[in-house]
Amino acid sequence: MTLRRILTAAAAAALLASTAQPALAQAQPKLREAQIRPAVSSVEGGLWDMSDQMENHVKASAEVNKDPQLNAFVKTVLCKVATEYCGEMRLYVLDRPELNASAAPNGYVDVNSGLLLRAATEDELAFVLAHEVTHFARSHTLERYRQTKQTATAGMILGMGLGIATGGGSLVSDLVYLGAIASLMSYNREQEGEADTLGYGRATKAGYAKGAGAAMWSDVIAETRSSDFPKTRNSEARASIFRTHPITAERVAALQAMGGGDTARDVAAEKKYRAVIRPHLAAWLKDDLRRRDYGQSLYVIDRLSKLGEDMGVLEFYRGEAYRQRRSEGDGAKALEAYKRAVASADVPVAAWRELGEAARKAGDKAAARQAFQTYLDRAPQAQDRWIVESSLKTVQES
Ligand SMILES: [Zn+2]
Repeated sequence: MTLRRILTAAAAAALLASTAQPALAQAQPKLREAQIRPAVSSVEGGLWDMSDQMENHVKASAEVNKDPQLNAFVKTVLCKVATEYCGEMRLYVLDRPELNASAAPNGYVDVNSGLLLRAATEDELAFVLAHEVTHFARSHTLERYRQTKQTATAGMILGMGLGIATGGGSLVSDLVYLGAIASLMSYNREQEGEADTLGYGRATKAGYAKGAGAAMWSDVIAETRSSDFPKTRNSEARASIFRTHPITAERVAALQAMGGGDTARDVAAEKKYRAVIRPHLAAWLKDDLRRRDYGQSLYVIDRLSKLGEDMGVLEFYRGEAYRQRRSEGDGAKALEAYKRAVASADVPVAAWRELGEAARKAGDKAAARQAFQTYLDRAPQAQDRWIVESSLKTVQES
């Protein structure tokens, strides 16, 4: 379906909704039926079209992670908690560093690598997916639409429809349009509480650990407080890097009460989960640094380090976080992290190069020489070989 057609349908849906308000006012607390595509002239049909549009955008994106093993794993976890809805869900694992996941009305589900990096166990991933499935099962997007249709979002959708009628349809309106569906997927406090409670029920029914949700959300809050940016650190009410799902201490307490206070993580479960994400760990940490919130990245690295595995990779990226942040004392911390990295068998070869640079900056020529030379020995085909060779010359004895 073309964008024009979709936008027109959405505008029609918005118009229909505004005239049919009394009939829609009573939202029943029931679960949605199995997949039946709603009529295009209905509000729900409009939302499905918007979701299709979002899905088409993602499909064409280079961010889709196509690792078959990883996809199969996440799909299995999703299906365990989605149960009756599994068959109508299309999963996309995305290499995006932001902590997020969503389940759109048409069955489109995305799971960001930022979530996979932060979950400590399969149980925690399952809890978040069960939370998303609940938003889907309870048609929260539709409910949100009904709640907000007198406000900016509905106006935006209508405005876009009118833009099309007068010959619009540029890239700008396309982006605004995606913004509109995103804003409908930004849920309110009651919906979040319900997604936690019913999601908890789904996940534990599937056999997942009772404390997983509370453990996951506690970590998210702690990460928020580790931010380099005061605005993020102090955003108590919306303590949220999980933007569409503001997480509060209140929600953590509610989950802890449901789980009987047990939030201890099972080390065996952590090791098992780490083995699944290990092939992507370095790439996802590199992506995370692109967010340029090094305080948060360092929190994530600390959490991942507790297991005592992958220390070469983790210490290298800890060093990278300090090197890139450049706050006072960060240079020395980067140097120490690179030193620890090269002491691990799984060290990325780039750690030798960075150790060389850090040692050179610290005035330790001998250590710099040795590190640069090790890099050149271990990465004979490296594209930046000539740069490292020239760096090496600057620390040669005269
Ligand atoms: Zn949510």
